Amino acid sequence: MEDKKHRLIEQEPQVVSRPSRPLMIVVSAPSGCGKSTLCDRLVDEFPRITYSVSCTTREPRGEEKDGVHYFFLSKKEFKERIKNGEFLEWAKVHGNYYGTLEDTVLFAMEEGSHVLLDIDVQGAKQLRESLIKLDMRHPIRRGFTDIFISPPSLEELEKRLRGRGTDEEKVIQKRLANAASEMESANEYTFQIVNDDLEKAYHELKTVILSGLGLG
Ligand code: ADP
Ligand code: 5GP
Repeated sequence: MEDKKHRLIEQEPQVVSRPSRPLMIVVSAPSGCGKSTLCDRLVDEFPRITYSVSCTTREPRGEEKDGVHYFFLSKKEFKERIKNGEFLEWAKVHGNYYGTLEDTVLFAMEEGSHVLLDIDVQGAKQLRESLIKLDMRHPIRRGFTDIFISPPSLEELEKRLRGRGTDEEKVIQKRLANAASEMESANEYTFQIVNDDLEKAYHELKTVILSGLGLG
């Protein structure tokens, strides 16, 4: 299967004009509700939108490569970076540490990209809290856009998790249990999209991004 999430890294640099206000697009969703389907389509259609590569202490899965899918760090390295204040946000998700390096996001924005952060609800909350301490002109504050994607129901989410066929029963049960509590945070996001009909949800996602660019 083509790996769209990290495809851009291997592409030729694009000759494009810099966006005047690069966006930092934060997307959270319970696992299985269609976030990758929607976000992959977005980066496909808009080459100037690029995924942010996070750090994690979990083991690489399958074909995952260091520096491409994640920066895979030991717990000691991760904690060292926390101590040095290198993370914009970090959280413990399913027993492992995950975090977004400030440098990763700022570098991409300075290069002229809009950055897409696929992070959990705890990370998004931390970002909102730290944003208000930044100067109004700071690129991260200016570009911040947060979107929560929900499934139409927990029953439909269960169907999609099973239909995807990538997870064991135990993992599916854990994801469903987490989904219910993640959905309680949906109201904290500026935009909420229910991924019922895929085309409709994608249209809404595009509308949010284009309005963030002042084009909506
Ligand atoms: P996530 O990235 O949120 O974990 P995926 O993008 O992998 O979720 O989607 C989970 C499964 O649901 C996939 O098999 C995908 O094809 C399917 N799916 C995504 N959106 C919809 C939709 N609107 N209706 C039905 N199935 C969908
Ligand atoms: P996975 O291990 O399946 O790649 O990711 C598990 C969860 O961690 C997902 O919900 C994903 O959104 C979240 N995640 C990935 N990177 C980050 C990050 O940098 N920060 C936070 N807070 N969550 C992340």
